[in-house]
Parts: sequence; C-alpha cells; structure tokens
Amino acid sequence: MMRGRFAPSPSGKMHIGNAGCALLSWLQVRKAGGSFILRIEDIDRGRSRVEYIKQLIEDLKWLGLDWDEGPDCGGPFGPYIQSARTELYEAAFEQLKEKGHLFPCFCSRKDLKMLASAPHGRDSEGPVYPGICRHLPEEEQAVKTRIKTPSWRYNTESVRAVQFTDLVLGDQYFPAGFGGDFVVKRADGLFSYQLAVVVDDALMGITHVTRGMDLLDSTPRQIWLYEALGHAAPCFSHIPLLFGPDGTRLSKRHGADITIEALRKAGARPEAVIGYLAFLYRIIDRFEPLKPTELIPLFHLTKIPKAHLVVEDLKQISSLKLS
Ligand code: GLU
Repeated sequence: MMRGRFAPSPSGKMHIGNAGCALLSWLQVRKAGGSFILRIEDIDRGRSRVEYIKQLIEDLKWLGLDWDEGPDCGGPFGPYIQSARTELYEAAFEQLKEKGHLFPCFCSRKDLKMLASAPHGRDSEGPVYPGICRHLPEEEQAVKTRIKTPSWRYNTESVRAVQFTDLVLGDQYFPAGFGGDFVVKRADGLFSYQLAVVVDDALMGITHVTRGMDLLDSTPRQIWLYEALGHAAPCFSHIPLLFGPDGTRLSKRHGADITIEALRKAGARPEAVIGYLAFLYRIIDRFEPLKPTELIPLFHLTKIPKAHLVVEDLKQISSLKLS
C-alpha cells in the first residue's frame, strides 16, 4: 500500500507553496487509496516554533486535507514530531558509526552553521566539504576532542553514483561523491535533516516522497543513507517551486500576502485556494474553486510541470480573497 507524507518544518507560517506540496502529496496518496502521514520536522529547534505547528494543522484542515497518522491523531509509527524521536536518530547514528561511514570533524562552527537547517536553495548542503578531517589519525582525533566537540560527517569518498527515476522530473543522475561529506550530527548534538528524514521515512514505512524541487540535491545523500542503514529507498517526486515575476522565489516581497492564514483572514474560501493551486500545478486547465476530493480523479503526476512555475499575475492571489 502506498504511504506518503507531508513533512513541514514549523519555522514559519504555511504559504501557498507549502500548501501546494501538501495538496499534491495528498492527492497522490488518496488517488492510490494509500495512507497519508503528517510529520512535523522540528529537528532544527532554533528555527521551530510551537505556534507554527498549531497554525499548520489548522491551515491544512481548513484547506480540506486530512491525514491518517500524525501528531494530533497518533498512529502505529509515532511519535510524528521529530523532537520526540531523538533516540531513533541516535541509534541510526551509532549504526553508521560502527560501520565506519562517519568521521568526526573539527572544522569551525561558522562553516557548519547551516547544516541542520532545513535546506534551501540549489545546494542544500552549502559548499562542498574539502575533506580536512576525513583522515585524521585516531590520536589526533582524541587530542582535538578534548578541546572541541566534533560534528560528524558522512564519508562520501567511496559512495557510488546515484541514479533514480523521479516520478515528476524523470531520470536523475548524481556522480559518485556528489556534494561532498555531509553532516549527520552537529557539534551541538543536533542530528541533521538528512539523517532525521531518512530515519523517519524508513521507520514510518513511507513508500512515496513528494516534496519541493529545492530538495532534489538532498536525495542522493538520502539514498546513500538508506543503503548504509539497510533500508529500501522510497520513490521520489520533486515538484516545481513557485516564483514571482522577477524570477525570485515567491514571497511576501512580491506584494501579495501568500500565507494561508492571511488569505483565510481576508475571507478567501478554501476551495478557491485549492482550485488556484491545482491550476498553477496544471492539474486543471483553468481556475475554478474545487474541493481537494474533487481533484482526486483529475490528478496525475505527469501533469505537473518539470520547471519552476512563475506566478505572473499576483493579483490572482489577492482575488482569491474575493471568491
Ligand atoms: N521539512 C522539510 C521542509 O519543510 C521537507 C523535508 C522533506 O520533505 O523531505 O522543507
């Protein structure tokens, strides 16, 4: 049975891009008669806020999306919030360490800063790690450990090239060692997005991962982790992101408040937001207000464009408030 998920990071209010991702993953699962899971990815504690979690759940319900397992309703593979799953990440970390996949890294904090953050942008792991600490002799590691707690990186020296077929984008290829050695545990003890997401998707039996295209370059790293931990990787679908007319990612700066909360407060109907999203992602040919359930028969992954979507006319978003 298909098991899909929506895995938002509660680091801000849900905007129409996040809602599009939730809608498409929901449609994929509902069309297949599978189970839909809501998982809160608050691994990056510094950026996560409890009030955003509450808001997220409210927004999703308002949109007419539902889930079979999640932080509010439980389920057999819980907890469904990353901050309560540390022991599971610790166990996976130990397993990787025992198998010799990891090495301690003593490079400066500044270099490592972005690593547990939910990744954004083209290269979600930042610059390629130059391998400085990869082969430190044990004695040197011991000496350095007395002065500084290391972070732990996955050694990508001998990882294979990755090939997979993305259900939206088609065949993908990443060369051996792509992106360099990535962090699985930060010096401050927090596990990285890459490790947490793999442990969660594997242990929750997720068969289909549908998410934004900004995470495409995280996928080879995650596939290496699945293999190292002895799990089968799920099928991936990476969906286009929304851009403003100026070619930057759609945001408040573009002059329309694109959070679901704002649209809702201004009087938009959920069907208008859903219909607009379905139109943006080409599930329907022209904009019309629809309920998520009405879209199930119309949904097909092949309809989703392969390139980023430009919202040319931002007035369309404002007009949702009136519909
Ligand atoms: N939590 C991530 C985000 O909100 C998504 C992770 C994923 O879908 O793999 O950007």
